[in-house]
Amino acid sequence: MHHRKPPFIIPIFLPHQGCPHQCAFCNQNRISGAPSGLLSKSALTEEINRYLSFERDKEKEVQIAFYGGNFLGLPLPSIISLLDEAEKFIQAGPVNSIRFSTRPDTINDQLLDQLTNYAVSTIELGAQSMDDQILALSNRGHTANDTFRAASLIQEKKFHLGLQMMTGLPGDNGKQSIETAHRIAALSPDFVRIYPTVVLSGSPLARSFKKGEYNPMPLEESVKLVAKIYSLFMEKNIPVIRMGLQASDGLEDHESILAGPYHPAFGHLVFSEIFLEKIKLQLRNRKDVSGRCLILYVHSTSISKIRGLNNQNITTVKNLFQLKSIRVLADDSIPKDQLTVDIHG
Ligand code: SF4
Repeated sequence: MHHRKPPFIIPIFLPHQGCPHQCAFCNQNRISGAPSGLLSKSALTEEINRYLSFERDKEKEVQIAFYGGNFLGLPLPSIISLLDEAEKFIQAGPVNSIRFSTRPDTINDQLLDQLTNYAVSTIELGAQSMDDQILALSNRGHTANDTFRAASLIQEKKFHLGLQMMTGLPGDNGKQSIETAHRIAALSPDFVRIYPTVVLSGSPLARSFKKGEYNPMPLEESVKLVAKIYSLFMEKNIPVIRMGLQASDGLEDHESILAGPYHPAFGHLVFSEIFLEKIKLQLRNRKDVSGRCLILYVHSTSISKIRGLNNQNITTVKNLFQLKSIRVLADDSIPKDQLTVDIHG
């Protein structure tokens, strides 16, 4: 099932449901803003109907997504009951498919076979890191090999595979994140999500942070790191569908985040950083730019990305190359991630 547009997602949060323990960085009650406990059938139906009543693009595939916990770690009767409820909406017509996130070590043959009775299209694995030492430091309770094995099984059974990775976990200075990205890319997932580690209140990591044992990666460094990782996935044609926690994850409550590289527009910062690097690359090869006027042409949807937050990229480039002026102009014949430069005066 390949729809051109990203699906319309109906997120059903099951905070910490099916989790064997609490991973160091995690506090799903904070992330989802949802109260803990399994939803009743009526609450689930109500929530799905609430989303279905929203204004939406009718061409988009509609997916029910079970997030926030370890879906396949739930007792089998609970899994079946949730899938049965979701399936009712699929049989009735308004929903097309189901997706969920789960731990790599919950994936096995028999469980995946159970799913083939349902319209499950996509399985997302929380890989987080492909370095066993870093997985252990975050008390993940699984190894990189579990992720290898689970990813292959999911692909063998023809589900779409999503892999989530984190940067800046305890013990990870960035090098390990890059290595993780390489290993994840080698698994050829259909998409990835990249989450920089932030310190969530109520997480075990919050205790380490307060004791001074964990220092989160600063925002700027984190943006640069994720920009590298994003580019790495782009080279392999692997879509990155999310970078950083977003306000829609229920994080508006800023007391939830004690520290770390959180920014409501993290993805935007990453795209701006990538454009900044591209401009620098183009200008570095030219010796005749100082004192002149630069025109940057980009796709109209990329204008705010190339400018950067508060025009920061423009200021940086202007100062760095001692330019007289910079103009950004739209040209929709240019691919969204590209730019062309022109120098006048
Ligand atoms: S990271 Fe996943 S498995 Fe770990 S506590 Fe959070 S939801 Fe549960």
